[in-house]
Amino acid sequence: MSRAYACPATWSSAVSDPAVIRLKPLPLVLRPRYQYMKQVMTTQSSTRAFFASSGDEALWEQARALREQYWGRSVFFRGIVEFSSYCERNCLYCGLRRENMALARYRLSPEEIFRAASDVHDLGIGTVVLQSGEDSFYDARTVAALARRIKTELGLAVTLSLGERSTEEYALWRAAGADRYLLKMETFLEANFRFLRPDSSPAARAAAYADLQKLGFECGNGIILGLPGETGETDEADEADETGGALAIHLAALQKLAPSMLAISPFIPHPDTPLADHPSPELPVILRAMARARIALPSAHIPVTSALGLLGDDIRIKALEVGDVLMPSLTPEQVRAGYSIYPGKNDSAETPVSRAKRLMDAVARAGFAVPSGPAGRGDAWKAQ
Ligand code: SF4
Repeated sequence: MSRAYACPATWSSAVSDPAVIRLKPLPLVLRPRYQYMKQVMTTQSSTRAFFASSGDEALWEQARALREQYWGRSVFFRGIVEFSSYCERNCLYCGLRRENMALARYRLSPEEIFRAASDVHDLGIGTVVLQSGEDSFYDARTVAALARRIKTELGLAVTLSLGERSTEEYALWRAAGADRYLLKMETFLEANFRFLRPDSSPAARAAAYADLQKLGFECGNGIILGLPGETGETDEADEADETGGALAIHLAALQKLAPSMLAISPFIPHPDTPLADHPSPELPVILRAMARARIALPSAHIPVTSALGLLGDDIRIKALEVGDVLMPSLTPEQVRAGYSIYPGKNDSAETPVSRAKRLMDAVARAGFAVPSGPAGRGDAWKAQ
């Protein structure tokens, strides 16, 4: 069953022209004030506090040991190509929401997407992630043809992250060879879901996820950590952790779904969204949540998200002690700043290829293994 959307007029833009379409910006006076995540998310003292606390040290050590038990010292890279910043939905926390008129939008053509996937291949990375806002401009057959071409000509594992689509579309993509699908619930608190994702529903998203599982995709799921309304009052053991209680609910739900990848993405306020003034969680809260996720689902792939990566490579490397996946963006540099799900994403002055390569070198220098060939695909854990 397909869903119909009211499409913005700007969708008539040529796919082959990645030129940015600059819509009329919001008047400055209407833009809420905000602080970038680096200012609100962490301080050196809060980081020290995390590792100085004996409780946290024990938690971290338990998670670190489980990560090594399942994945050794391997770090799996997935090259992400964010091919459209258009979105038909209006999630309150996301810079791609359709009502964000300040955002410069872009779409890439299938050929441009394939060229970016070729960069992923040439870097020796075994998986490409094709991601976009929910943009039905790309019909199911276009996506299927792209997945098939990437599988045939590049031999990469293909992950799709295109949001909620019909069962038939998912089936077509699976038949075309797509291996994995990333569909994060974002929050398992139903009322919060309805508030934050006003044009979706928990039931519809869960049904889409169930479809993907039935079709045999390796499924990724996850949450945004620190959303409004997600406090610790439901988990007395974590009173000091402002997101601990909600996290317990999220992790219990995720254990039932048993995703092959589990992402804990810290909330970062975007200035052009209704949540511009809501703070990010602090670094200790994020690290603790990642450790708890590893303990809850020890064999899952757990990415160190690009949002956390904004804090710097030293924090990213530290987080890899419990996480095991990195997803550098290989979106072409002419457009990639337009994939503004949060401020600062894809802001690097380096080219995408050089940034990814430098990250791979930094990870290897830190003593991790970066597997290549079939092992570098980072497939789901299978019991030996
Ligand atoms: S979170 Fe996803 S569905 Fe929601 S507005 Fe952003 S890109 Fe669109």
